Amino acid sequence: MALIVQKYGGSSVGSIERIRNVARRVAYHARQGNRMVVVLSAMSGETNRLLGLAKELSDHPDPRELDAVASTGEQVTVGLLAIALQAMGLKAKSYSGGQVRVHTDSAFTKARILDINRGNIERDLDNGVIVVVTGFQGVDKDGNVTTLGRGGSDTSAVALAAALEADECQIYTDVDGVYTTDPRIVHDARRLDTVTFEEMLEMASLGSKVLQIRSVEFAGKYKVKLRVLSSLDDPESNAPGTLITYEENQVMEEAIISGIAYARDEAKISVMGVEDRPGIAYTLLGPVADANIDVDMIVQNIGESGHTDFSFTVNNTEFDKALAVLNREHDAGKFKARTILGDKNICKVSVVGIGMRTHAGIASKAFRALAEEGINIQMISTSEIKISVVIEEKYLELAVRILHKAFELDKAPA
Ligand code: ASP
Ligand code: MG
Repeated sequence: MALIVQKYGGSSVGSIERIRNVARRVAYHARQGNRMVVVLSAMSGETNRLLGLAKELSDHPDPRELDAVASTGEQVTVGLLAIALQAMGLKAKSYSGGQVRVHTDSAFTKARILDINRGNIERDLDNGVIVVVTGFQGVDKDGNVTTLGRGGSDTSAVALAAALEADECQIYTDVDGVYTTDPRIVHDARRLDTVTFEEMLEMASLGSKVLQIRSVEFAGKYKVKLRVLSSLDDPESNAPGTLITYEENQVMEEAIISGIAYARDEAKISVMGVEDRPGIAYTLLGPVADANIDVDMIVQNIGESGHTDFSFTVNNTEFDKALAVLNREHDAGKFKARTILGDKNICKVSVVGIGMRTHAGIASKAFRALAEEGINIQMISTSEIKISVVIEEKYLELAVRILHKAFELDKAPA
């Protein structure tokens, strides 16, 4: 008898009819003889609605209270699914993260899971009960409700699968797997049968929205067998979705490049004509880091006559804050520069593939494809298995399409 953890996202539980569909699928797997734990998101749009209510009352709501409000969305869906399952004649029981005892730290709105109490769940499973658990939330040592950050239900599911030593963690969503790129941009994007854990990690961090990055990290740490599937397919179709793999030998047969990821929400800040001296990077970025702003790409040009240009990217939401920090430091005389420029009209496009480790010429192929379309590259960063470029935002879709084509991602690997 297998233990399966299934997670359903907001669109999969967005209406009573969809919840009934989820119940049918869960029932199907339960009747096949599996022990079932189901993790749910709130109905689509509900978490935004709840956070919006809080923002109507205060520009800076207390994070503890925000979590109290935001966590209710999932409490509704788990109760409804348990009712739907019971209406089908199955034994089912809902739990909030706090009731299970998903222990987290006290970092409200972005808490981390510390450990999970298996007792309640295992007892129910032994009694043939389907256990339905709220995603996205837990409880801290003082009994406060905490949430795990947006998209956190993925992490809840993976953490439960790890704690319960589940045979498989299945993430059901409105696409039937992980694609070579966003099918809304490239119509002949292909579903990948498998993707390596490292590639998935890069894709999640580079903007692919299929899985929350922390859930991928968690899966890697505990080697959870993780599969992404569609909740819209017929449950009996046994569609395979995309399996995240950990085995290096499987990698050998894979395509060199697995996917093209993109992020629209990037912004660039350039400090032009700044003094080129030891410590300048720290002088500029130290205060930015102290303000808790994540810096992504960094480029420092070669200096000329003692001056250089220094650019970096941040998330759009932190752009104003980062610019203010730099202007403040500049005005306080911490560094001298000709100008400080900001540009929100940029995006990042990335080519991801584990085959880059063993194949040369990937970067030049990508650069040539962009050059042929006259797309100017403003910044480049690379790792062992990815190449990212910053380009003007209006070229995002074009760049994704031509890179997808250049690496023949529309064709199945031989
Ligand atoms: N409902 C939460 C959100 O919208 C968590 C999740 O869906 O994963 O972010
Ligand atoms: Mg999600």
